[in-house]
Order: sequence, then structure tokens, then C-alpha cells
Amino acid sequence: MRRTIELAVLGILPVHKHHNGMNHSVIVDFSRFSFLKEFFPRASRKDWKNWQWQIANSIVDLEKLEEIVKLNSHEKTELQQLNVLLPLRITPYYANLLAGLSSDHPLRKTVIPSEKELTLSFGEAADPLHEEADKKVPGLVHRYPDRVLVLLTDFCAANCRYCTRSRLVGQQHKVCDFDKVVNYIKEHKEVRDVLLSGGDPLTLTDARLEFYLQKIRAIEHVEMIRIGTKVPAVMPQRITPQLAQMLRRYQPLYMSIHFTHPVELTPEVQTACNLLADTGIPLGSQTVLLKNVNDSAETLKKLFHELLKVRVKPYYLYQCDPIFGSAHFRTSVCDGLKIMEKLRGHTSGYAVPTYVIDAPGGGGKIPVQSNYVIDENADQVFLKNYEGNIYAYPKQK
Ligand code: SF4
Repeated sequence: MRRTIELAVLGILPVHKHHNGMNHSVIVDFSRFSFLKEFFPRASRKDWKNWQWQIANSIVDLEKLEEIVKLNSHEKTELQQLNVLLPLRITPYYANLLAGLSSDHPLRKTVIPSEKELTLSFGEAADPLHEEADKKVPGLVHRYPDRVLVLLTDFCAANCRYCTRSRLVGQQHKVCDFDKVVNYIKEHKEVRDVLLSGGDPLTLTDARLEFYLQKIRAIEHVEMIRIGTKVPAVMPQRITPQLAQMLRRYQPLYMSIHFTHPVELTPEVQTACNLLADTGIPLGSQTVLLKNVNDSAETLKKLFHELLKVRVKPYYLYQCDPIFGSAHFRTSVCDGLKIMEKLRGHTSGYAVPTYVIDAPGGGGKIPVQSNYVIDENADQVFLKNYEGNIYAYPKQK
């Protein structure tokens, strides 16, 4: 049975005190240590808590994956036949999470390759969002009027099989010419919002990330910085008090965290989110709607409620982008709308993200929602509420 305990309370691990007087004691699930002993016998508990050890020891080949995750026969056959574009990469922490789930748990599909990735379907493309076309200098995409996307690295802690940037991730190419990125932003005074993404910016060291943050923060017309990351979900060890304090120096800085399923909200992940929130970093979540993974109102409601408990506001629910070999992950838009109807009004507004389709061809994010305005006449607008009841609202004369 899992036994979670605050080791700091027992004096085994240090307690980190913060500006607000709250403790961020390191929460560790003891079952992780028996896993460590079994699959990484030469590693120590200290190693487990070190994010760089997590990266260095990530599962990148079939042999190690099979040893840990106990693949079912279907998965084994698929993997033996595969030579996929996006490399396999799973942190030991996340592999431990998967190993504790049943062999048919949907979350496994999100990081374990499948032969379905080799099937090309209608409308799919390597770069469906046309980011390459909107790339102004290496590493900078400028699509919307007042904000830019900066791809700092092509490296992620764990590679998601449905990744929009699978054409780049894990390819070990230099994706960013940072001097050119800074010059571009300086020359474009309309840019007030810079989103740092990748790959995953939180796989960079504190020093490297701070170097980038300093340069961007020094540009006078940049009002806010955002970081897009999946690291808190797949490698919560990275969220150290030192990292949080460093990020705090670059406020206003927002973080959008990629979450997929409620089982990701482990005690370690909860601690990581609370640490960031206590440091004053506003947190939002981004979730990709994935067929047979999280495409039910119950699963998503649970995920969004768990996120709110650790002060992460559900921000975007994305329709899965049509990258090559992603048909098995894509739901219909109609199903997505039905899920949203089961959320809107049925739970707190804070727990309801905006459902968006990132338009193929570079059209940007387009919100989609059911039509709640069903009719109008000269005097009134007719609206449908979450229960399907019709109400009239008087028009202003
Ligand atoms: S974390 Fe984001 S960028 Fe990295 S593989 Fe997953 S979806 Fe792609």
C-alpha cells in the first residue's frame, strides 16, 4: 500500500521556509524508493530527488521500458516494429507512476509509442499549425499581434506521443538563435507578451534559464513573460525552492502547465504546484483532449478539480492537433463540445477551461463552444442554460 509521509516532519529531509511562512516540506511516496531499489539499484534516494539524475536516467529504449512498465503483448509487438520519428523518453519518476497503473490505463498511451503513429490520415501534417511559416528568426514564432513564442530548446523531460512539435522535439538540433530572438523582440515594440516554450524550458539549468529571462525582462516594452512546461507533471523534482525564487525575480511571470489526467496529481506534483503558487507565480493548465485517455467529462472534471486544489487554473482544453500519425488520439469536435456542455454550469466556472482548436494553416487558437444564444426577436434574446431550459433576456431599446 502506498504510504505517503512528510519526511521533513520526521527530520529526515529539510523543510524549506518561504516568504509567506509556509512550509514546502518534500513529500515523498515511499513506494518510489522500492521502485528505485528494484530498477536503479545503484542510485540513492538523494539521486531520485535530483532532477538532473531523473533526466540522465530517463527511459529511452525498449529494454528498460519493458523491464519497468510490464508491457502487454499488444504493446510489445507494436514497439518491436517501430521506428518512430519522436524518440521515446520517460523520466524514472513518470515511469514509476505508469508502472503503478493497470496495464490498460489510458495514461500509458500518451508516452509509450504505438504503431498507429505510422498511419497517415486525412489532414495530417508535420507542422499543421504552420509554425515554420510564422518563424521570423530561428526560435521565434510571431503569429499574434502583441505576443511571440520563443522555442528555447528542443528537449523535453518526457516525450508526448501527440506532441504538436514532434517534428522538433528530441531531434538534438539547435532550434534557437537567442541573440536574433532578442533583437527581433527589441525591434518589435508591439510585443508585450513573450511565451517561452520548446521543448521544455524547465529542462534548462537555473543559470541558463535565468540568462534568457534576464535578457527578455530587460526589454522595456515586454510586459509579461510566460513559461509553457510539462515538467511539474513528469519531473516534479525540478521545482526546487531555488528555481521558484529565481523565477520570482522576473515577475510578472506566468506558468502554463501541461496536465493530461488526474492520476498525475501525485503528492510530489501537488507540492511542486503549491511551491510555485506560494512564490507568487500564477499557474494555468493546458490539457490536450485525447481519445480513450481523458475524453470524458468525469475524468476532466476530476482533473480540473484536483488542479484547482493546488491553485492551477484550468486554462485551455485543446483539440488534438492533426500531426502525422495522431488519428488514434483525436476525438471529434462534436464529442469535445458535448464534454464541455457537461462541465459548463455543472461545476465552478474556475474549473472550466476554454476549449480551443489551434487552426491548421496557422490561423491561431479559435475558441469553440456550444451555442447558448438560440434565437432572438425585436425585443428579446433567447438563451439556453446548462440544464437546457430557455430564458429570455430583454434587448436594450
Ligand atoms: S511536453 Fe510539450 S513540447 Fe514536450 S513532448 Fe510533450 S507536448 Fe511536446
